[in-house]
Amino acid sequence: MPFYITTAISYVNGVPHLGHAYEAIATDAIARHMRQRGEDVFFLTGTDEHGEPVADAAHAQGLEPRALADRNAERFQALMPQLEISNDFFIRTTDPEHMERVQEVLQRVYDNGHVYKGVYEGWYCPRCADFKVENEILEGNLCPIHEIPLTREREENYFFRLSSFQERLERLFAEHPTFVMPTHHYNEARSFILSGLQDVSLSRARLTWGVTVPWDPSHVFYVWFDALLNYYTALGYARPGNDLTERYWPANYHVIGKDILKFHTVFWPAMLMAAELPVPQHVFVHGFLLGADGRKMSKSLGNVLDPFEVMDQYGTDALRFYLMRDVAWGSDGAVGMDAARTRYESELANEYGNLASRTIAMISRYRDGVVPPAGTDEVLGRDFEGLAATVARMFDRADITQALELIWQRVRRLNRYVEERAPWQLARDAESAAALDETLASLAEGVRVVSVLLHPYMPASVDKLLTALGADGLGYAGAAFGPRGSGARVTPLEPLFPKR
Ligand SMILES: [Zn+2]
Repeated sequence: MPFYITTAISYVNGVPHLGHAYEAIATDAIARHMRQRGEDVFFLTGTDEHGEPVADAAHAQGLEPRALADRNAERFQALMPQLEISNDFFIRTTDPEHMERVQEVLQRVYDNGHVYKGVYEGWYCPRCADFKVENEILEGNLCPIHEIPLTREREENYFFRLSSFQERLERLFAEHPTFVMPTHHYNEARSFILSGLQDVSLSRARLTWGVTVPWDPSHVFYVWFDALLNYYTALGYARPGNDLTERYWPANYHVIGKDILKFHTVFWPAMLMAAELPVPQHVFVHGFLLGADGRKMSKSLGNVLDPFEVMDQYGTDALRFYLMRDVAWGSDGAVGMDAARTRYESELANEYGNLASRTIAMISRYRDGVVPPAGTDEVLGRDFEGLAATVARMFDRADITQALELIWQRVRRLNRYVEERAPWQLARDAESAAALDETLASLAEGVRVVSVLLHPYMPASVDKLLTALGADGLGYAGAAFGPRGSGARVTPLEPLFPKR
């Protein structure tokens, strides 16, 4: 089945930080899991490059907006392979193919009668590139997200008749209780709709850094509509000569941060309805990463976790594992270097890494490097029953933290199994040969199963380990525990997570 998943696109007025890495890693984990299940996955990420904040940031540095966008887009693009992100395409909203398709879609919205010209006056946050409604403004006219002063803006704009989609959006939410997940964000979006929708600006007149409005070239589209459309436009040109729109639209999952909830769960589906396009199936909303002190990360508080520092010290897989493990998906969570070190040492090195080394070392020592073609322990097998199916169900709801916990319980179970069976004692007694065969076969099988399931979280380490185990294939059918009787040959494995 086609499966289309996206991250939000990163705004190029800044450079990559932990929040970008977090969203890309989580989305990548879901994409990898779905590929294991045999789905026909397309995974999109990219950069959002138009609008006033980019123009302002560029001018402040004495640059043209395009130059700043090029420079920062390159950094975001370079981050993807560093994080082992398996995206199928990287869109830039300055791609001419994107810009043309934005014009086509919004022209259709205009032709369908959903746009009119009016005057907008309101409180505007230049960092959000968004007007704020009265009830969300903080005391002293501050942006609720950036806590900076809002400016009073008045200009002639084209408006999108969002208000006329009130009823259809209410119906969308009533009929699709998983349209937004987790539930508390569904409720938040729904109550925003129920409080009554106002029309929204679709264009800016004073700005030139954007996609030109085709029916009035003195305007550019408001950056948010240009940006949201990336999810749709990318499919048209990601594979030259092969339009993927029919195959993948609508998206199965949009993964976003909670600060852009309103755009993705209210404006975006309404815009698609106005263009007579199907709306996405699910919007998954994640929380914010906080400093180790539980406060918002900021340079001045000195509580910023630098993803590059974690990667330099512990490796990419350790960063991926740590973020997916320590912060419950969908909630805010505190992160820091100390906690990352603890997870690395106690879980990756001592539990998983050690289990892997011991298993391979014992097979080498006691059975000349060949996994005994014996049956597996039935009692141990019972602890793996239904695991793959449960993990799959959790991924369907993007419960990636909980899925990881379930898998990790089996890593611990396997370490206990080593202690219970004490293969080094069985090896001393020729009469225990069959028991030793079963123990080693069960261990190899257990390690293989947890590794197949851990692939979305730690692709590079799992790859090394499966190769050393002589086990190939990441397919989800292989996530079931059972006797393989393969007689696979193991090869030496460098410590996956060496002591630092
Ligand atoms: Zn703001």
